[in-house]
Amino acid sequence: MKRTPSLWNIVLAVLLIVTLTQAGQQRLIWDGRLMPPGRTWQHRNPRRNRERWARRLEAQRRRLPLAPKRKRRMKRPDSPPNTWAHRGQSPVIFRSVSKGRAPQKPATTVQGSEAEDPLADLRQGRGLIDLIEERRLWEMLIRIVWPRGPICPHCGERDLHYLKEINPDYRGGLGRWQCRVCAEAGDPGRGGTFTPLTGTVLEGLRIDVRTLWLIAASFAQGQASVETAKEARVNRHTTDRLFRLCRAALYEGRSTEPLALTIEDIVELDEVYITAGLKGRAGGLELEREPRVRGLKRRGRGTWDSDRLPVFGLICRRGEVRLFVLANVQTETIRPIVEQMVQRGAQVYTDGYCIYHFLSRQGYRHQFVNHGAGQYALDLDGDGRCEVHCNTVECTWSWLRQMVRTYRGVSKVYLPLYVAQFEFLYNRRQQNQWNRTLDVLQMLFQLDATRAADLLRQVETAEFAEVCPVAD
Ligand SMILES: [Zn+2]
Repeated sequence: MKRTPSLWNIVLAVLLIVTLTQAGQQRLIWDGRLMPPGRTWQHRNPRRNRERWARRLEAQRRRLPLAPKRKRRMKRPDSPPNTWAHRGQSPVIFRSVSKGRAPQKPATTVQGSEAEDPLADLRQGRGLIDLIEERRLWEMLIRIVWPRGPICPHCGERDLHYLKEINPDYRGGLGRWQCRVCAEAGDPGRGGTFTPLTGTVLEGLRIDVRTLWLIAASFAQGQASVETAKEARVNRHTTDRLFRLCRAALYEGRSTEPLALTIEDIVELDEVYITAGLKGRAGGLELEREPRVRGLKRRGRGTWDSDRLPVFGLICRRGEVRLFVLANVQTETIRPIVEQMVQRGAQVYTDGYCIYHFLSRQGYRHQFVNHGAGQYALDLDGDGRCEVHCNTVECTWSWLRQMVRTYRGVSKVYLPLYVAQFEFLYNRRQQNQWNRTLDVLQMLFQLDATRAADLLRQVETAEFAEVCPVAD
């Protein structure tokens, strides 16, 4: 009688204890509140935990977000630092450099690490331009844009009491300014703020400053845009657009000053015919004719319609050259140009073409050589020097044809722009490359933005009569 309840008691007690213990253990093991937060994965090693938290704290102090775990894992401790895209440089540079074609790895051979190129990291660069500090390049560019100090593009304020540089580090050194006059008057732009590029033709340009300098230098050297795009590692259309802007600037800023101011100056006149048809859909023109037969036949003098455009040139000996693309070369078309450019009474040498016969009637001292009769230089005053010739200007035609060849055929719609570029380069042939680059950028920033847009639209919508200075 006594055993049964005690046995049952024992069994019940054991069951109760086991159940309670299991439940307790289960609750103790699986209760989420007792576990560390799920997102924080802890190392077993407390020393590594401390290091990790110290790294995080350091990153937080520098206000830099931690790189994602994937990137941290990809970085190998023994890999050499990337010279061209390391962290000290601006992210803009990093983007533009990495945008182009990936640098090709040097071919690894069986010998392994001995055959590897020790300059492999250097070869990823684009040349000396990558070594110049970005801030320095911006400084030089800003000096070109603002030769007389900062100016508000909205209201023209120059007083430094009203202009404040609110962010000198904007775009790695371009800087962002605010004009107090505009900010208080009512917000043109973003609270009266502006950058040096606001209101210029390069407003809204997304490429970085190194690439801009590189492209300007290539343009001043007369390189083709496709070549430049490869060298600068940008899209071909980017350089195309910038080159066209530069040409528009040179065309717009070309000199119209008189060439010969005194009557002692010697001027040579001549014309040349450049074969330039319609190419692609340049100027929005439809290609309405048969493809041109190779080796265009010479049918009389070239005109706009026969795809051989006359370029009329005036050159002052030991002076500058002025070139004009004409639709048709005749006495009526060249007379106003000559009268504007050359002082009456100056010595003028031409060839025997009959359109120059008006010169002596207009009061110029005109001498000519008759190429048809084998005459190329004459000695009229008998001092043993053949001073009557037009070889100086004919020499420039050789240079002009060579420059146009670089572009593998230009459209006749754009020919005035190319000729303006040649005139610019020829007149600065004594200067060095750096000065020509500075001149290109200077003329680019002197160009009025609305005028540039008009000019490019005229060129692209085939309003070539306005682009050619003298229509027929
Ligand atoms: Zn202002």
